[in-house]
Amino acid sequence: MLIDNHNRKINYLRLAVTDRCNLRCNYCMPSEGIDFVKNDKLLSIKELIQVSRILVDQGIDKIRITGGEPFVRKDLMVLLRELTKMNGLDDISVTTNATLIGPYIDELKQLGIKNINVSLDSINRDTFERITRRNQFDTVHNNLIRLITEGFNVRINFIVLDGQNEQDILPILEVMKHYNVSVRFLEEMPFNGGSKNFASIKWNYKAILEHINKEYPDFEKLESPDTSTSINYKIKGHKGTFGIIPSFSRTFCGSCNRLRVTATGDVITCLYGKPKTNLRDIVRSNSAEENIKSAILTAIGSRAKTGFDAQKEHSTTVFDNSMTSIGG
Ligand code: SAM
Ligand code: SF4
Repeated sequence: MLIDNHNRKINYLRLAVTDRCNLRCNYCMPSEGIDFVKNDKLLSIKELIQVSRILVDQGIDKIRITGGEPFVRKDLMVLLRELTKMNGLDDISVTTNATLIGPYIDELKQLGIKNINVSLDSINRDTFERITRRNQFDTVHNNLIRLITEGFNVRINFIVLDGQNEQDILPILEVMKHYNVSVRFLEEMPFNGGSKNFASIKWNYKAILEHINKEYPDFEKLESPDTSTSINYKIKGHKGTFGIIPSFSRTFCGSCNRLRVTATGDVITCLYGKPKTNLRDIVRSNSAEENIKSAILTAIGSRAKTGFDAQKEHSTTVFDNSMTSIGG
């Protein structure tokens, strides 16, 4: 079992499998001039499987695949097939922009990978295109509805962006009220696709909740697991639920059970801090297993207590790393 220096159990790995993406969401990436890492700096699928197996041995029982866009990696299903065979791994989930998932939906279902988070920041085609800088709304919408109707546990991630999509907060709840889906509104974080700092972010947890409350006063707060980052609610008469993730207010650090490994092998023990070690060279060397285990133990042995503490590792308020390498 992995326990950090603040006595928090770490059992959840967020594994980024690539830094590449076929969209250019304006809060995540600049429109061009992105410095993607060279292919040989990315962990291969074999290495991702090896790292996952070692971490599962150490006590990880939940893995979320993220990126970049996981499905731009043509060999993603090889990794997913291997993960489903791993003893001790109880929960495999994927975060995706749902542009490329279509051809894989049947196999995901067969493999029993049912938890899919879809990032969708607008239900309006033009707004979607402005935010993502790509014309993919119809594909995303079709894949989303297919995932929901095929019985996947779908959560929609909707980042509330000042001046861009706040007009869609209520409509997305209205459109999704007939579906068994959770719509989660996220506070925007100042990663390097955007130019904001924390102080200037208007749509914080409280503002989002108040906005929803004006239209839907009849909602109840739901019980959520301690480790949940979202605070969840159910509107009377709606089939699904909604949640708010206070990404920059950070009320969830006390029970944080997460470890992140980026596509280049960086180990991140707090989303708001800097990488603590890198596994790529270690996994490519002799005694990889022993050395990875020891590097992980050292990293989680010096974890920041809160995201605010970890943030001090950055010199500016706009983080100098990107969500597309960290994976959210
Ligand atoms: N491409 C996939 C997707 O978009 O779902 C997976 C990777 S993406 C980096 C993972 C999550 O990070 C997405 O839900 C995305 O909305 C979120 N994200 C990216 N940039 C963000 C930011 N500046 N603030 C908050 N969340 C962000
Ligand atoms: Fe790509 Fe996801 Fe970032 Fe959008 S949020 S640019 S889909 S990695």
